[in-house]
Amino acid sequence: MSEHRRVVLKMSGEALASASSDEVLDAGIVERFAREIAEARTELDLELAVMVGGGNIWRGTVGAGVGMDRATSDTMGMLGTVINALALQDALEQHGQDTRVLTAISMAEVAEPYIRRRAIRHLEKDRVVLFAAGMGNPYFTTDTSAALRAAEIEADVLYKGTHGGVDGVYSADPRHDPKATRFDEISFRDVVSKDLRVMDLTAITFCMDNGLPIRVFDLMPEGNLRRALSGELIGTLVR
Ligand code: UDP
Repeated sequence: MSEHRRVVLKMSGEALASASSDEVLDAGIVERFAREIAEARTELDLELAVMVGGGNIWRGTVGAGVGMDRATSDTMGMLGTVINALALQDALEQHGQDTRVLTAISMAEVAEPYIRRRAIRHLEKDRVVLFAAGMGNPYFTTDTSAALRAAEIEADVLYKGTHGGVDGVYSADPRHDPKATRFDEISFRDVVSKDLRVMDLTAITFCMDNGLPIRVFDLMPEGNLRRALSGELIGTLVR
């Protein structure tokens, strides 16, 4: 259908949480994401790496806000992303996908360490790569980690799946401003100068400096993840 592509998908941790209970992981949602990824990969030649967030379990700023050491609290957040990556791995394998979790914090009994060349080799062998523990450094987010990994593995595009009900980049927050309009495409410079919240600023400037386009789309409606991965022009392209 379309040419060969290598992409990184950033999936926020909160997207995996249950909307109807206190559970940090909703098995039904995780299964649906896994199914849509499997469907997209049977439709086209797609090398896919996923950076999984951890906000459904812990965020470093929460601990720091109540007096914890920031680096310790961030490490807790990174460990949360490993739990999410393992859940997604399990669901993907149930859908027949060969996968590898690569962690930025070594835990040899659980997953392989992140090694750039090994990540690329897994992709070439048609395995879905799941990046866990962000980039392994406190004070960063998984958005920035996704951008870094995408550049390292020379991905064509970074997909940023949102979960807050906003399906792209708008001129203002559409949840508060009825006149807000969605951009089909926007430049990095405009995102920065207009202070539009797409990803954190570190991630945006990294992508700008490295010429890495970002497609922002709503992860939550049924079928959207499959459509985005299949190359449909949904959401907003930042480049
Ligand atoms: N984190 C970190 N370094 C990284 C990636 C993540 O310290 O390279 C920590 C940080 O505390 C963050 C938490 O892990 O709050 C969970 O990641 P994030 O907030 O990006 O998850 P998401 O919002 O995507 O669910």
